[in-house]
Amino acid sequence: MKILYIDQTGQLGGGELAILPWLRAHSENARVVLFEDGPFRPLLEECGIPVDVFALDTLKGVRRESGIASIFSSLPAFASLRSRLAKLAGGFDILYTNSQKAFLLAALSKRRGQPLIWHLRDILTAEHFSPILRKIAVFAGNRYASVVIVNSHATAESFVAAGGLRRKVRVVHDGVSPQPFDSVVPETIAMLRKEIGSDLRPTIGVFGRLSPWKGQHILLEALSSVPDAHVVLIGDALFGESAYVETLKARASQSDITGRVHFLGFRRDIPELMKAMDIIVHSSTSAEPFGLVIVEGMLAGKPVIATRAGGAVEIIQDGESGTLVTPGAASELGAAIRRLLAEPVEAERIAQAGRRRAERVFSLEALFQGISTVINEFKPRLSGQSSSSGKH
Ligand code: UDP
Repeated sequence: MKILYIDQTGQLGGGELAILPWLRAHSENARVVLFEDGPFRPLLEECGIPVDVFALDTLKGVRRESGIASIFSSLPAFASLRSRLAKLAGGFDILYTNSQKAFLLAALSKRRGQPLIWHLRDILTAEHFSPILRKIAVFAGNRYASVVIVNSHATAESFVAAGGLRRKVRVVHDGVSPQPFDSVVPETIAMLRKEIGSDLRPTIGVFGRLSPWKGQHILLEALSSVPDAHVVLIGDALFGESAYVETLKARASQSDITGRVHFLGFRRDIPELMKAMDIIVHSSTSAEPFGLVIVEGMLAGKPVIATRAGGAVEIIQDGESGTLVTPGAASELGAAIRRLLAEPVEAERIAQAGRRRAERVFSLEALFQGISTVINEFKPRLSGQSSSSGKH
């Protein structure tokens, strides 16, 4: 089956990193369209997948919080992109969209009867999306998506609560390979801790793009109540949130935590860095659609503390395979960190249980199985079409 994958960004966000293993393993007959160039493109090309970049800067003006005016102003850009996409899309059996903008464009560009899969990786709540964008997304999802794959039950419920049709929803949790974590050697860990400058101190890592709702500021507040510990921030502002980075840096220079906060920027050696931490914190202040970094931290064999909302609750069983704290509660987070540091045997028990759970439940095999099952739903329809029209 020929599948055209469509994604809005060439940046390495969670959605792109989450679909990459599937694309690597299913590169035959695949092609990818991106609406913006970036480091995702060469990674796809390395797998032998042809990539088209249909860059249209004006589309960048439409953000999650956008209102009607900016949506209207981008309509000419949409129209031009739509015709280019429609031309290419016509030659594929299935369109598979990995982001909201990609889905909306594909919905307008697909030929009649062409299956369209929307892999929805966003929680559709007022916290994250303007009312008009939510309405458009749900209307288009109900009308044009053949199936909506969601990365967690939390994402599924937000779609249904916003008016989305439950019968279209298929929950497929993201999956991560343990292999890159298992091949990290002790020398690399020692070198990284030296490089960070925290080699003899408890070291707490927070991984992910720097953004207010990712809550890195909450971890810096919590650090104030954990004497001696260091915090390492891995990630950068991916989508124009550089002002937030400045506030984090200003907070990090205050006397209670100065010299104990390290900004490493965006890195590709995530397994190595995770293995170099004592604790991994996920600090999002609102519901995370899934939370790849939580699974990655568990695979690294580290105790993970995450906030009790969204996908995190489906990944971690509190006190068993990790620790859950209230989103936005710095004092609770500080207490959870102190407890894990004070009780290393318990911390190790939780870390090992987390590792086992991540391996068992959030494997690449389970992810591949989930996506394959959805794609196979269309096989009878497509083979019927090919026998009647001889086209596919
Ligand atoms: N990540 C990375 N380099 C960094 C920071 C993060 O490669 O410097 C990766 C991280 O390992 C994870 C992804 O980015 O695979 C983030 O996914 P997540 O679902 O946690 O968050 P999202 O970005 O989708 O909101």
